[in-house]
Amino acid sequence: MAAMPPLIAQNWKSSQGTLTGTARDAIILAGIVFVAALLGILTRPMGLLALLWPANAVLLGVMVRRPGFATAFGWAGAIAGYIAADMITGGTLTKTLWLTGANVTGVFAGSLLYRLAGRGHQRLREPQSVIIMFAICSVAALASGLVGGFAAGFSLGQTYFSGFWFWLVTELVNFIVILPVILIAPSFREWPAKLAASSRTALSERRHALPLAALLLSMLASSFIGGPGAFAFPVPALLWCATSFSLFPMTLLTMVFSIWGMMTFSTSAPEAVDPLLWMQSIRLGLGMIAMAPLSVASITTTRNGLLQRLQDSVDHDFLTRTLARGTFMARSENAISQGGNVDGSAVLVLDIDHFKSVNDQHGHAVGDNALIAFSSAVTSTLRKDDLFGRTGGEEFCVVLPRASAAAARMVAERIRQAVERLEIDAGDGTTLSITVSGGLAVCSSTSKLSFEEMLTRADMALYRAKAEGRNRIVSDDC
Ligand code: GH3
Ligand code: MG
Ligand code: MG
Repeated sequence: MAAMPPLIAQNWKSSQGTLTGTARDAIILAGIVFVAALLGILTRPMGLLALLWPANAVLLGVMVRRPGFATAFGWAGAIAGYIAADMITGGTLTKTLWLTGANVTGVFAGSLLYRLAGRGHQRLREPQSVIIMFAICSVAALASGLVGGFAAGFSLGQTYFSGFWFWLVTELVNFIVILPVILIAPSFREWPAKLAASSRTALSERRHALPLAALLLSMLASSFIGGPGAFAFPVPALLWCATSFSLFPMTLLTMVFSIWGMMTFSTSAPEAVDPLLWMQSIRLGLGMIAMAPLSVASITTTRNGLLQRLQDSVDHDFLTRTLARGTFMARSENAISQGGNVDGSAVLVLDIDHFKSVNDQHGHAVGDNALIAFSSAVTSTLRKDDLFGRTGGEEFCVVLPRASAAAARMVAERIRQAVERLEIDAGDGTTLSITVSGGLAVCSSTSKLSFEEMLTRADMALYRAKAEGRNRIVSDDC
């Protein structure tokens, strides 16, 4: 091929890249749908439609989470996945096409509506997210049912209306039960952190173990109780779980509960009742019940996240992100009084030298930058268990638990040097330097001094450091 002009070559390359990208997306979607559809086909009792049909909810979840997949190529891949799964398990071409048409219509409608709903609702992170999900799933199931009425006619020999109704109910429940799992599942990147966090909190915690045990016991009890209302018996335990587990495990628990309910109750119709009608009624009941724990878990998780963020801003100084005064004082008292400071402990108060003149010469904004640079320099010299807080404007305090007098002096000196070395952007193309004075109170492990008393001694030492000429650490051994 003759050499192409650079611009055309670039476009050619990028369109080739996009083409490979979309072909790859199509193959991925075809694979996902194929596997999920095969799983569903395995649950088809003797020619009936599937007991559980995960493919549509999975595909909808993927399309919502990765909108980049929702291209003509992506949809074509998904359609190929449906057709392949049905054909290799013995479906005729006409039936397969009708079933696939019904499946894709519902997912397509759902993915269009989720685009309008916004990101918060897609991750079930807003108070009404589960209601919005219900509304979207209802429209998707309705769209699917409108086409599925014909498909059910082929599969079950039903009238259009009963096929439509059966399809609508089944799809609605499948979506409600499976879609939340896909929407909330951690991404591949998040899994390692999630697994590490959950192995720390795991089931050993009573907070999780008790509600889970209650859920399992009430599920067991409800199979003994029997009768059409028995599947609602585990609802209190489900709600308890919803306030204890975070959202993703809760979507899984709700799914397990619903599938268990379908398997246990939907095939035990009394003789006088049409089995298909019974099955639909049980499924619908289970789907509606699933909404309750999902809503509670979604709202609880959102609330907990909000409280966490609030607590975080209460605990930390807004400018330097060091511990705020109140939190620092409380944690320091705890660290000093709790014992276990085998080598001793130390309190170091720090005050930046002549900071007023930094503000006066360079302005308040540069002063703020200096405080930020100062804080990160100090933080980088500390261990994980050391405490570092902002106790006043340009006054900070460090608590070193389990530190010998020699180690504490070394840390204090290292901090002084690190601050001295800082080159702070003065905003006019130049840099400025600052120094810090420190008062250090070190105590042996046998000392009975409280944090307050150590702080007073450290303050006195700081006073001396300032009087002796600044940019130095003065130490007071208790
Ligand atoms: P010394 O060496 O004796 O400590 O002198 P100094 O100038 O540092 O002492 P002084 O306590 O008189 O001044 C502290 C200054 O810190 C005064 C105040 O304007 C400034 N300051 C306090 N909080 C902030 C802040 O959040 N941002 C900025 N830019 N300056 C602050
Ligand atoms: Mg000062
Ligand atoms: Mg001061």
